Amino acid sequence: MALNLDTNIQYLTGVGPKRAALYQKIDIHTIRDLLYYFPRSYIDLTQPSFIADAPPWEVCAVRARVVAKSSPQYVRKGLTISKVKVADDSGSMMITFFNAKYTVDALQYDKEYLFYGKMGASPAKKEMHAPAIYPADLPSAFLAVYPLTQGLSSKMISQNIEQSLGLLDENLPDPLPAFLRRKYQLCHLHFALKNIHLPADRESAEIARRRLVFEELLMLSLSLHSVRADSYSQTAFLCKNTDITPFLQQIPFSLTGAQQRAIDEVCADLQKPTPMNRLVQGDVGSGKTMVAAAASFVVFQNGYMSALMAPTEILAQQHYQGLSKLLTPLGMRLALLCGSMTAKEKRDVKERIVLGMVDLVIGTHALISEDVDLPNLALVVTDEQHRFGVAQRTRLSEKSDHPHTLVMSATPIPRTLALMIYGDLDVSSIDQLPPGRQPVKTYVISSKIKQRVYNFLKEHLDRGLQGYIVCPLVEAGDNTPANLQNAEEYADQLARGPFADYRVGVLHGKMRPKDKERIMDAFASGEIQLLVSTTVVEVGVDVPNAVIMMVENAERFGLSQLHQLRGRVGRGQEQSYCILISDNQNPDTKERLEVLHRTNDGFKVAEYDLKARGPGDFLGKRQHGLPQLKIADLSSNMDILLQVQQATEELGRCQLSDGERELLDQEIARILSRVGDQLN
Ligand code: ADP
Ligand code: MG
Repeated sequence: MALNLDTNIQYLTGVGPKRAALYQKIDIHTIRDLLYYFPRSYIDLTQPSFIADAPPWEVCAVRARVVAKSSPQYVRKGLTISKVKVADDSGSMMITFFNAKYTVDALQYDKEYLFYGKMGASPAKKEMHAPAIYPADLPSAFLAVYPLTQGLSSKMISQNIEQSLGLLDENLPDPLPAFLRRKYQLCHLHFALKNIHLPADRESAEIARRRLVFEELLMLSLSLHSVRADSYSQTAFLCKNTDITPFLQQIPFSLTGAQQRAIDEVCADLQKPTPMNRLVQGDVGSGKTMVAAAASFVVFQNGYMSALMAPTEILAQQHYQGLSKLLTPLGMRLALLCGSMTAKEKRDVKERIVLGMVDLVIGTHALISEDVDLPNLALVVTDEQHRFGVAQRTRLSEKSDHPHTLVMSATPIPRTLALMIYGDLDVSSIDQLPPGRQPVKTYVISSKIKQRVYNFLKEHLDRGLQGYIVCPLVEAGDNTPANLQNAEEYADQLARGPFADYRVGVLHGKMRPKDKERIMDAFASGEIQLLVSTTVVEVGVDVPNAVIMMVENAERFGLSQLHQLRGRVGRGQEQSYCILISDNQNPDTKERLEVLHRTNDGFKVAEYDLKARGPGDFLGKRQHGLPQLKIADLSSNMDILLQVQQATEELGRCQLSDGERELLDQEIARILSRVGDQLN
């Protein structure tokens, strides 16, 4: 029977309902899923060592014949040891097997095998423990190793894959059009699938990998383009009047040059016949909110409405309060829409919106999930956009007819990555902080001198300033290590102990939104002096009077996240401090935290973070809204990424045959369905 990629894996011999169920657990249903389940690494048996040369401690392959076998020795219950002596022309070595009677029995005297395993410690006495054994006449000596999965061995997977490849038509349709394969020197799909799994040698595996990485990145890039493709149409919301003088007169400070530049760029976009699609990237505290405010003012002056979506209710609240102060005097009518509001409150807001009585609506996900109509919506701003997925951003834009979009991010990411994630967004960088800011002084200290930190905090509270203490966990959970501070208990301890004379508040993610709001208000007004909190204060919270950020168990956080937390202080004129408490002795961890001591520059922090953790963790699955990549690695495949961008453009310009177009469209649909899954 001939297979195609969409055939169910149960058609393979050896895959019955039981194994199919195991495959299902790792999301493998069809032959395609199976063949796109890529090896984790390879075992290289192509160049076995001589026994005499095999280096101690190292994993290596040895080709040798069996010269002697001991009978199994019973050591204790559950442990039987067998020894096998093997030899080659250079010498001999002893191999120890544990509970492997059948394996040892199967070894034939005088026959050659490949033994793959770690050599013993002694340079003089050659030995190996429990190696993997392969026939010496392997058809391929470069073997794929698959990620470990309960019940499925690498060998089973290899067998199923080998069978699939044998049954698959060599001329199977390739989603990469032939001209692209020629231009970028990429092998055919069949070759790639065969050689990623059953390579003759390292080189063929590499050729296969490059093609598959290219394919994955290209399909992702095309999918993201297709999500945005609509926005190339003519805008329904042309803004003729971009005079922001009244706005400038209203704000209590003068804009920084970088803010001014970003606002100019936004204004220029708003006058163009195509919708704006712009990313405003700037370090924490650089004043991105002003850019959003100016944009919404321009839109208002032209008779339209704007929406601002924030990732948390706290942040939405804060934007609502801050921007109301600024924009209401200019005649703008603001509204807030959050999930936690009562049904009646929400209904009222929606009604005002429909009646055209709102010029700027600020909210959370509620803006997309509530059945709210936003007919006159000309501008969509997403704040701290890295918290939203591609699809979520798009959904808000779909509430209206091609609105302008502005996304704001404090997570600086390299340009190529930005292009991948946002496609052809224009980028404005705010690379300057408002004047008078002093860099936040950052220290990494051990909990032994916490008392001194408390005293330091108190001195500042006594001067009318405020501070935060952030802890990694909320409640004393089931398996919380004892040394992890938890917000509620800790706040309690502090309020009764060292900070008995101060007003201490606590804030965490599990509180009801109304309570969170109450606490944030109390902190913003200075009623609460010391706020003990989880990372709910991480994004965007702006209380300029807070000058100390102390973080417990700092090693538990990513660098970019700590940088975000640090950004909560240093927002006013006072010297601010970030104190990272960590007793972790791991040198890598220490070095990582020291990066924050050395630099205040978010770009440098992000760069280090990206290098140390890789983009998967750095961006976080949830945060970038991209589907999980199976083979490409956004940080190390930069060169391919650049070619993919070029190819994406070329595909936009060229004429493809119907067949080629259809194959591409199918791939794109597949990816988008995965992006969709992730949001649920
Ligand atoms: P972020 O870029 O992190 O979103 P915000 O927009 O919250 O930064 O601004 C941080 C703080 O700086 C706010 O208190 C804001 O009022 C203030 N700010 C913004 N622009 C200026 C400026 N040009 N001069 C002085 N203060 C400013
Ligand atoms: Mg902000």
